[in-house]
Amino acid sequence: MAPPQNPMPAGGPLVEGPADPEHDPTAVYALEPDYVAGLTSRLVATTGRTAAVRSPLDGAPLAHIPQSSEDDVAEAFVRARRAQAAWARTPIDERAAMLLRLHDLVLERQDEIIDLTVLESGKARKHAFDEPLHIALTARYYARTAHRHLDTRRRLGVVPGLTRVEVNRVPKGVVGIISPWNYPFTMALCDGLPALLAGNAVVTKPDAQTMLTALLGARLLDEAGFPKGLWQVVAGGGPEIGGPIVQRADYVCFTGSTATGRLIAAQCAERLIGCSLELGGKNPLLVLRDADLEKAAEGAVRASFSNAGQLCVSMERMFVADQVYDRFVERFVARTQAMTLGATLAWENDMGSLISQDQLDTVAAHVDDAVAKGARVLTGGRARPDLGPYYYEPTILEGVTPEMTCFGRETFGPVVSLYRFHDEADAVARANDGDYGLNASIYSQDGDRARAIARHVRCGTVNINEAFGATFASIDSPMGGMRESGMGRRQGSEGIHRYTESQSVATQRLIRFAPMLGMSDETYAKMMTANLTIMKKLGRA
Ligand code: NAD
Repeated sequence: MAPPQNPMPAGGPLVEGPADPEHDPTAVYALEPDYVAGLTSRLVATTGRTAAVRSPLDGAPLAHIPQSSEDDVAEAFVRARRAQAAWARTPIDERAAMLLRLHDLVLERQDEIIDLTVLESGKARKHAFDEPLHIALTARYYARTAHRHLDTRRRLGVVPGLTRVEVNRVPKGVVGIISPWNYPFTMALCDGLPALLAGNAVVTKPDAQTMLTALLGARLLDEAGFPKGLWQVVAGGGPEIGGPIVQRADYVCFTGSTATGRLIAAQCAERLIGCSLELGGKNPLLVLRDADLEKAAEGAVRASFSNAGQLCVSMERMFVADQVYDRFVERFVARTQAMTLGATLAWENDMGSLISQDQLDTVAAHVDDAVAKGARVLTGGRARPDLGPYYYEPTILEGVTPEMTCFGRETFGPVVSLYRFHDEADAVARANDGDYGLNASIYSQDGDRARAIARHVRCGTVNINEAFGATFASIDSPMGGMRESGMGRRQGSEGIHRYTESQSVATQRLIRFAPMLGMSDETYAKMMTANLTIMKKLGRA
């Protein structure tokens, strides 16, 4: 690999380098040791062991992260519970004001967030920008709608005028959040913000590959004014540290693979606690015969190659109407071939690196398997070690059949398969085929028809004339998966109510729910029967 001559933006706050070649001849990027120490001091980690975080840009160690033990997880919960008791009494407006401060901080410090995200994940800078953007949107949305979700609400009482019913939203307590590496800033924070607003504390275990970005999120929460004990961060392996979190939490929010989600669901079921699971997908994009093909091809590039396809909602299957197939494919391939590729901190790249050797191996194995079984590569289909150690070209496949691994299994990389369809019902049936149901996209110039088709698609979100951004950035709408893509929803009222228990409080006046004034049980039953009949006639609920 030819290292970039001037990899850092001028005056970038984090990076010094190139690092001393005598000590680490492969390192191109390095972080200020004091900066790293400042971030890792936020961890509960006393084992004395560390694990390296490597930058996918050059494959060299970026930092060494102190590791937590099960005792550290227990200590994190003690601290979180202590902080939560006071936090639950903090007025909602004060909690919301902290979210609005976080919003401003995230926008002000976006260069720092983006630098660290790119260094840890290898993604293109423009895809890293999506992360502070999403957190700012989430913080503002929940701050501004806090009362709508959390205020005590009146409900219908059984006896109008005499039974007053109110429903309180009570925080669950301490929420455990286990998050993946693919959107390290977004995934570290977005599910935790509504948990905090609802009066909970959080103990979180971000993925080991992207700890620094997650720790920067914790630091920004501190700076926004959230009490420090409220957001505890631990570090370590999934089963070793994630398991003890699930054993202690009052609710678990997990984002990651379907395989791990299934394990976590079983552990939560054993403890009778709730969980939400945001899992994998094999998402379909439909190009109908009346689609604007330029828009569809432009959207298809973003749909499949944002974050090098390491995106739960990105598109790995495209179903294109026979009438427009050739014209769409020509445009999609041309746009893909025109992409600027590179693993650097600069803005100009259209697609960055995969995160690790494991990801590269999976992507290469899926493509090699498909090609060996007869699929055609329209563009891409090879690693690019000249660009970065884990770089793989954006790849479009044709002729993918059910016996190929990438037909139904999530690749989680920059690989998409194209399929023709003759009629729309058949396209929807094929889009619904398989175990997943996360996100879908439909391109058509007839919005009504596309929305009607969307109702038959078994996915938690459907974007019309957009890939995934329209639903994901519309924070008021719930986001999550059907079938094996998940359970529960993030965002919207669903995304905050999952962190609360509803508590009904009914105050009864004048009458009681039993015979009164010497009335017999039989007379009471007759009176109540008459009452029910009258209520129905009056149209009461
Ligand atoms: P993963 O399941 O291997 O890991 C995710 C997190 O779970 C990590 O923090 C990991 O350390 C932890 N973990 C692993 N095993 C554990 C265990 N036994 N107990 C507790 N914690 C454990 O997932 P991954 O492969 O790193 O992430 C990619 C997957 O995540 C893809 O399938 C992708 O589609 C999915 N994802 C889904 C969404 C969504 O919103 N639906 C978002 C991002 C990623």
